[in-house]
Amino acid sequence: MKGNNTNMKQITLSNGVEMPQIGYGVYQVSPDEAERCVSDALSVGYRMVDTAQAYANEEGVGNAVRKSGLKREEVFLVSKIWLSNYGYEKALASIDESLRQLKTDYIDLMLLHQPFCDYYGAYRALEDAYREGKLRAIGVSNFQPNHFIDLASNVDIRPMVNQVETHVFCQQRKAAEYMDEFGCRVMSWGPLAEGRNGLFTNPVLVEIGKAHSVSAAAVALRYLTQRGVIIIPKSTHRERMEENFRICDFTLTDAEMERILALDTQHSLFFDHNDPEVTKMFMGWRGLV
Ligand code: NAD
Repeated sequence: MKGNNTNMKQITLSNGVEMPQIGYGVYQVSPDEAERCVSDALSVGYRMVDTAQAYANEEGVGNAVRKSGLKREEVFLVSKIWLSNYGYEKALASIDESLRQLKTDYIDLMLLHQPFCDYYGAYRALEDAYREGKLRAIGVSNFQPNHFIDLASNVDIRPMVNQVETHVFCQQRKAAEYMDEFGCRVMSWGPLAEGRNGLFTNPVLVEIGKAHSVSAAAVALRYLTQRGVIIIPKSTHRERMEENFRICDFTLTDAEMERILALDTQHSLFFDHNDPEVTKMFMGWRGLV
């Protein structure tokens, strides 16, 4: 295993709060497994963990942080409010419940998970909890430019982060320009596209990886961080957690960056939030948590 990641950048959000550029995501990690996985991730060196009310594993995350021996301020915790908790009052109550599950009195970054239902009411709850010191930073997730510009133009405290599907096949370059206008940072979900589209065996990524003695996965993640994107790759295997974390001791050349830029299809591999059928699907999911 190469390097120890001492070169990892901290990203400064628009309110001055700093967060690690590389974190660990726990989507589809069972409540029981979450504690073991997050403990492994923290021992590998990760200092940012991304969870959500909808993942039903905030408690496992909180247990792992508690038992890690790390000080609370050494770990940057991210969570997200689910649609079933939207609207001002319910969102406020759900923030308190997330604090309880995570066993902490503040969350470093809280996001609205989806751009549907009463997201204005939920966002006002984020703003008030932020003012009260329960949240150190606030933002959104899955807000495409239309929803993002609407919200960011009409709130008191602009979203500091927008977590959107971002990987080599869906690079979000145009969306990032709009976020930049509002001082918002891009945080990638699915930075490895969950392996879709043959990412781990993509010939361009494999060839570039050989030149640096790293895997296609490492190249795909390094590409994002070199573009300034915050990433939260997920793996339940410790070796892969290490591989995904230690990506700061090689640098892609401009020519390599250009080759990876050309892999962008500008289309989602998961859910296109501009597709009405996807909106209908989320209406069915809103009561799930
Ligand atoms: P990902 O792109 O991180 O891919 C994860 C999968 O890739 C793993 O399950 C594993 O099968 C494989 N993998 C990981 N590292 C590998 C390696 N080095 N070599 C080979 N295979 C490897 O996908 P993800 O989990 O969907 O996204 C990461 C995180 O983003 C999630 O855990 C979650 O925290 C967040 N997320 C947020 C949203 C949202 O709506 N905001 C949606 C999906 C995910």
